[in-house]
Amino acid sequence: MAQTSDKAGQTFAHYWKQNLRAWGMWYRQSPGFFASTLLSSAGGGLAPYLTIWLSAQIISELAGGRDARRLAFWAALTVGVTALLALANGALNRWQEYERSRLSAVRFRPLADKMLTLDYAQMDCQEVQDLYSQIGQNDNWGGYGLYQTLQLFPYFCKGAVQVLGGIGFTLPLFLTDLPADSPLSFLNSPLALVAVLTAMVLVVVLSSLCDGKATLMLTKEAETFTFGNRIFGFYGFRLVGDRKRAGDLRIYQQLKNVGTPLLSDPASLPFFPGSSVSKLSKGRVGLLFGLCQSLTAVMTCAVYLFVCLKSWGGAFDVGLVARYVGSATQLFGGISLLLQTLSKVRVNGNFLDTTFRFLDLPNPMYQGSLTTEKRSDRNYQVEFRDVSFRYPGSDRWALRHVNIRFRIGRRLAVVGPNGSGKTTFIKLLCRLYDPTEGEILLNGIDIRKYRYDEYLALFSVVFQDFKLLALPLGENVAGAADYDRPRAERCLRDAGFGDRLDAMPHGLDTYLYKDLDKEGVDISGGEAQKIAIARALYKDAPFLVLDEPTAALDPIAEAEVYASFDAIAGDKTAIYISHRLSSCKFCDAIAVFDGGAIVQTGRHDDLVADETGLYHKLWQAQAQYYTQ
Ligand code: ADP
Repeated sequence: MAQTSDKAGQTFAHYWKQNLRAWGMWYRQSPGFFASTLLSSAGGGLAPYLTIWLSAQIISELAGGRDARRLAFWAALTVGVTALLALANGALNRWQEYERSRLSAVRFRPLADKMLTLDYAQMDCQEVQDLYSQIGQNDNWGGYGLYQTLQLFPYFCKGAVQVLGGIGFTLPLFLTDLPADSPLSFLNSPLALVAVLTAMVLVVVLSSLCDGKATLMLTKEAETFTFGNRIFGFYGFRLVGDRKRAGDLRIYQQLKNVGTPLLSDPASLPFFPGSSVSKLSKGRVGLLFGLCQSLTAVMTCAVYLFVCLKSWGGAFDVGLVARYVGSATQLFGGISLLLQTLSKVRVNGNFLDTTFRFLDLPNPMYQGSLTTEKRSDRNYQVEFRDVSFRYPGSDRWALRHVNIRFRIGRRLAVVGPNGSGKTTFIKLLCRLYDPTEGEILLNGIDIRKYRYDEYLALFSVVFQDFKLLALPLGENVAGAADYDRPRAERCLRDAGFGDRLDAMPHGLDTYLYKDLDKEGVDISGGEAQKIAIARALYKDAPFLVLDEPTAALDPIAEAEVYASFDAIAGDKTAIYISHRLSSCKFCDAIAVFDGGAIVQTGRHDDLVADETGLYHKLWQAQAQYYTQ
């Protein structure tokens, strides 16, 4: 769902504050952007006035003295100054563009940094995912949110400079009186002056209001636009071009049978003629934008009329007509730009609210300050003490009264039916979530009291749904661009990837997948699993946790992993979840999960012998296929 615009009850001051906060964020990333924008706005905003003033000198000379030397002087000065200004402005604009490009390249950085530092539990929650996706969609649709503020700053500066310069250059237009005997001398009265100025400002304000209102109306359709973008992105590129879906698409003729809004009902999309948004654009929004343009034209006519009348009445000579028309048009253009920018600040404010709601999400997980003391003897003892856990927003217990203690350097197998809580148990162990009840202790101290980063450093985990990156193999294993190559190679060989590594065209430097390198290699699920195991080994943490470590391996590779498992795990405490109970034979202890609780613990032989137990039942279910 995309963010709709304009919530009732927010003041402009609120939106302005949000906008300033965003500018502050950008400023911390690139003060150069702000310096270059200010300078180029000052240059760009004032240059027209200077040109207008110089041209006016030439026209006055032409209309008055017609002195050839003076004319030549003014003409040379105009050309020289204009060329210099153009050069300076060009340089400033390039500097500004450079800074803007640099910032654009990192425009998602604050959001990504936030996402990466969120508590896992927060990040895993649907509302947070929705919020993040909304921010991305708003940016993708109209650049709304943080990025928009980057666009608004130059407009704001340009408008402000134009207004300030315009006031200075235009003031004499209003202050120069007509001769008392002129038929238009009534224009000298302060009342007439106020009336003319008010009328002009009113037209500008009205024109800006029309523009703001039309933009606001369009952004109220944000949900429709972003939905349309999603459809285009998904059906147009991701779906039809996705190699992983290509088989299904063909076998089931999915696009033909299911149909897509893009093909079957294009009028429902915002960018097609006949859609609600196109009707709006042709109707009220179009009218408002048209009105805005017309009022600007009316404004220009009014300026011409006023200046010409004053000149005709004898207030100033014809040379000044060009200056006053130009500078008054610039002034009112500046006011208009400023007002339109402020109305965009208001429109964008709603989108910024969404962004800051995300950036301000707290990390509620308590983080202690105790150090885990890096023990060379790896003498870490972990205990679950009456631990129960419910996922946020769920009223079902995923774990209930779990009590278990791991002995150092041992192998613990965790088994049980699907949904019995095995993965949840691992997530709590690694402190991705905190228990709802009970506590987990490391060497007798509640794990919440330790420094989080140090606690996480104790675990190497291969999750069931692990992901590798489209980067070189060695970087995947080491999790860094600069790494210990012999160690990475050793870990790959220990994980059973040796033969495949030898066949890799560039060894550790071979890219995985083809996303970033056309010579990248595609790997099978089993190979990926071996790389993931190697990555866990490379980290060399005291706890090695494997969630279904061999699910994607063929029987021979699986047998190899188990045969070398003891050697691979070395002095680490190894915990692994497995559906293949034959693999548990090697373990010192087995915990059998059912319905979120540990229902049995023991060694393989003892558990198999207990015919009333769940382990026996699971063992029998698997064994029958081999023995029959
Ligand atoms: P197992 O690993 O044994 O298959 P899990 O630990 O993944 O089981 O799941 C235990 C229970 O918790 C299941 O009922 C599952 O539906 C539920 N569960 C798992 N993940 C979540 C989640 N992120 N939010 C809510 N419930 C979840």
